[in-house]
Amino acid sequence: MMVPWRRHCVPDALSVDLSKDRPYLRPMAILPILEVPDPRLKTISKPVESFDDDLKTLVNDMIETMYAAPGIGLAAIQVGVPKRLLVIDLQEEEAEGEEPLRNPRVFVNPEILDPSNEHSLYNEGCLSVPDQYAEVERPAQIRARWQDLDGKVHEEVMTGLMATCLQHEMDHLEGILFIDHLSRLKRQMVLKKIEKARKMGGGHVHGPDCRH
Ligand SMILES: [Zn+2]
Repeated sequence: MMVPWRRHCVPDALSVDLSKDRPYLRPMAILPILEVPDPRLKTISKPVESFDDDLKTLVNDMIETMYAAPGIGLAAIQVGVPKRLLVIDLQEEEAEGEEPLRNPRVFVNPEILDPSNEHSLYNEGCLSVPDQYAEVERPAQIRARWQDLDGKVHEEVMTGLMATCLQHEMDHLEGILFIDHLSRLKRQMVLKKIEKARKMGGGHVHGPDCRH
C-alpha cells in the first residue's frame, strides 16, 4: 500500500548495497512489482505451509522491495508469488537528516476477526496501481490473527492506518485491489490514467513531492 504523503521518488535506493555490513548474508533482492492490468493480481493466494529458509528469503526480499518502491505494505502476489503472506512497515516520518525508523512486520496466513461496525476513510494507493490514489472506506478496527516466520500464532487488535493497511494487503490475497472498491466508472478512469501515463513514458508520473 502507498499513502500520498509518502509519495516521493528515491532514485538512489537501488544502488544501496545492504550486503556490505552483513557479508554473511546473501544480498537482498529488489523484486519486480506486478502492475495492473496483470491478471496474476487477481489470483487467490494459497496458505503458507512450510516455514523454511525459502520463506525467510522471500520475506527479506519483499521487505527490501517495499522500502525501495517506496511503500508501506506489500503482499507476496504483488511480486508474483501466490502465497498468503504480506509485509507492512508504516515507517514513521523521518526527521530532517535522520535515518527513517524501520520496523517491518511480517504476517503469514493472516485472518481478520471482529471487524468493527464503525468505518474509516483513507486515501489509499497501491504499488500495483502506480501513482493513483482514492478514498476507500473500511472497518476502523479489526482483530487480526496471523503466524510469524516460525509458524507461531499471534493475535492483535489493529486500529488507524495499521487496520486499513492490513485490510488493503489482505485484499491482495483474494485477488482484490483497492480500485475494486470504487465505482466501475471511477475504476475505469484510474486504469485509463495509468495507460496514458505509460504511453507518455516510463509509467512514473512526476508529482510535487518528487525529489528528482
Ligand atoms: Zn496494494
